[in-house]
Order: sequence, then C-alpha cells, then structure tokens
Amino acid sequence: MSTASHVAPTAPIFPGSVDAAGQRATLGVMGGGQLGRMFVHAAQRLGYFTAVLEPDAQSPAGLVSHHHIQTSYDDPTGLAKLAALCQAITTEFENVPAQALQTLAQTRPVAPGAAVVGIAQNRIEEKAHFTACAAVSGVSCAPYAVLETPAQLQAVLDDRADLLPGILKTARMGYDGKGQVRVKTAAELAAAWAELGGVACVLEKMLPLTAECSVLVARGWNGQVVSFAPQRNVHVGGILAVTHAYEGNMPLALADRARDAAIAIAHHLGYVGVLCVEFFVVDDGSAHGDLVVNEMAPRPHNSGHYTIDACDASQFDLQVHAMASLPLPQPRQHSPAIMLNLLGDVWFDADGQLREPDWYSVLSLPGVHLHLYGKLDARAGRKMGHLTITGSDVASVRAVARRAAELLALPGLEDI
Ligand code: ATP
Ligand code: MG
Repeated sequence: MSTASHVAPTAPIFPGSVDAAGQRATLGVMGGGQLGRMFVHAAQRLGYFTAVLEPDAQSPAGLVSHHHIQTSYDDPTGLAKLAALCQAITTEFENVPAQALQTLAQTRPVAPGAAVVGIAQNRIEEKAHFTACAAVSGVSCAPYAVLETPAQLQAVLDDRADLLPGILKTARMGYDGKGQVRVKTAAELAAAWAELGGVACVLEKMLPLTAECSVLVARGWNGQVVSFAPQRNVHVGGILAVTHAYEGNMPLALADRARDAAIAIAHHLGYVGVLCVEFFVVDDGSAHGDLVVNEMAPRPHNSGHYTIDACDASQFDLQVHAMASLPLPQPRQHSPAIMLNLLGDVWFDADGQLREPDWYSVLSLPGVHLHLYGKLDARAGRKMGHLTITGSDVASVRAVARRAAELLALPGLEDI
C-alpha cells in the first residue's frame, strides 16, 4: 500500500531557492499547535519560508510562521491558498480532515498522505493494520474486539469474557486518555458503551504493563528510513509526563525489537514523513517482558521532543527533510536526556492561584532546555511547554531532572 500523496516531489525542494515565478521555497503545515511551531522553527532554521493553516488567531505555530492562513481545516479557499504558497505540505495533528489532505495532494506533495493519516485517525483501522503486518513487524497489538453495532456488543458480552477487565476506547478522536473508559464487568462495558453514545469503539484487554516506550522513524519518498532509539515514557493521568531517552532506559533486546517493528510498520504503510509508534512492555513472566504495539501518530510526537536538544538532528528536522525530499541523515544522540512535560497545572499554586513558575531556579540548573509554546492561557492538563535535561551521564541528568521536577511540583517525580 502506498499512502504518500498523489504528487511526489520531482526533485528536492532546496531551502532558500526561488522558483520560476519568483516564489521562495515554502513548506506548509496543517495545524497550528506546538508540533507545528517546532516544525516551523526547524524549517526556518534551514532557510525555508513557512505557512500554517490554523483557524485560531493566537496559535503556537501561527505566531512564528511567515504565513498564517486563518481558516478552518477544510475551508476550500484556505486550502487553495496553502497549496498556492507551498511546495510541500505536512500535518501536525492526526485529526486533520483526511479529505483536506486529499485536496492538497491533488496539486502538492503531502507527507504523510491522507490514507495513512486516515488509518491513524481510526483505532479500528489502525489495529487492523498492525495485525496485518504483525508477521513482518514481529509485534501484535493487545487482544481486542471491535464494537460498532449492538450485535457486536452482545457478541462480546456473550463470548469475550477474556477481554475483561478492559479499556473501551472510542475509535476516533481519542488523545491524552480522552474517550476511554476502564471496565471490569460485562455490565460496566454495556453501560460505558451507552455512555459513549454507542459510537464505534474498540474494547481492549487491560494488560499488565511494566513500561511504555515509543519509537520515531522518518521515511523518505524514496523509501529510505532512519530512526531514533526507543524512548521510555511515563504517563500520569493518561498524559505523557516524563520521557527517558538514554542507553539503558529499557532492556536492549526489547529496544531493538521495538525499533525494528516501527520500521517495518512504516515500510508496510509506504509512509512518508515522521511516524511515532507507541508500544507497551507487558509482564509475561519472562525476564524482560513482551512487547505489544499500542498506537501510532502520523507526525512528530511529544515523546520525541528531547531530540531537539539531545540529538544532531531532531524529529522536526527529519520531518522537514522527508517532506522536502532532502537526504535523511541517521540521527545521532549526543547526550542522555530526560524530557519533562509542562502542563498548565504548573502555573497554579496549591490554592489554585495563578503564579509564575520559578523559572529562575529552574534555568540556573545545568543542562536545562526550556521550551514554551506561546500559549497565553494556562489551564490544568494543557500542554504549555516542556523541559529537556541533557548532561554528560545519566546519573547527573536524572539528578537535575528530579530537582527541576521538585521546583515546579511536577508529577511523576518517583519515576525520574
Ligand atoms: P495519546 O494519544 O495521548 O498517546 P490516547 O488517548 O490515544 O493517548 P492510549 O495511548 O491508547 O490513549 O492509552 C493511554 C494510556 O492508557 C496508555 O499510555 C497506557 O498507559 C494506558 N493503556 C491504554 N491501553 C491499555 C491496555 N490495553 N492495557 C493497559 N494500559 C493501557
Ligand atoms: Mg497513546
């Protein structure tokens, strides 16, 4: 299957180049969030002009881009303007309407393409894809059942007691643990599905996780693939809190399997761009546990933010290279790193009063890299920024990360 766009670049789009019509090489992105902002930074550093299509006037990416097309994601005029401005287009969130990507792909290279983004938007299709390529990836997903009709619910209630306790997940629009209900009994499952409005869901068996990790790969138009080593992720309240990115963050045998599986999944999709594949490490009684594939994001990922400060090419650099048909250098991590997410909660004290976080103390620590996304209103659970801590060795990185987490009262301290 090829899920790249209808139009592939006929030649690399070089930064700083000017086409026959006098237009500067411009790269476009659908969506104006923090991932778009970091993409814009990477593209601009190379010398590209950038364009962001995003309805919000104050978006993190729109604020820093050369062009901000302020329309809805499916507005024909906005899409036509983006296509006219840009030589290639990418996306920064998977819930971009696949139809919009298809429209853009009629005239411009779009990476990743609408078809693969469509798969990643729907857990049912995503799991079908993981299952279809399990023989080559060597990794399966958690046991699950599809729930789209009352008859399917009944069949699960009758015959799939093995999936309980489980997690009911909406097929679409889930992120940061939203659209998920944990169910222990058949009665709870029936009630939870009704509560979710009877929309298409998957019921997934609850697995005994010992760890979670993710792998970032970048694949070019020519099928070339490069990858980062797996990073180990700690979630708190369904939201990523801490990413551990250093040698020894997980057993090597599992890390190698995860990386190979992510590459196989990208190849199988004919993917172009940066892909993040999330895995569970499951206790199966063996020394290191088993690997299970959870989901994929057709874009750079929160768990890959450390690559900006700890690697010689970041996930955003590779996103730029892949879409523009530039060479994909194998990235090298030069420093061990820990990433701490900064949610809006950090801006509130114990009494719920707004406060300025103690940046002075945090920034006085060695190897701390602060990234704030330019969001004006801090709200609980809102991703406002992140900190990456780098250093010469893992012990000192962990010590600084712990101190930073203490200063900012971040969750997940016991996991650093
Ligand atoms: P995001 O897009 O932010 O990564 P999400 O809302 O799409 O999250 P998942 O990644 O499916 O949701 O699940 C969120 C978290 O819930 C996982 O990171 C894991 O900690 C836990 N979880 C999900 N599925 C299972 C499972 N089958 N067994 C045990 N824990 C699970
Ligand atoms: Mg997830």
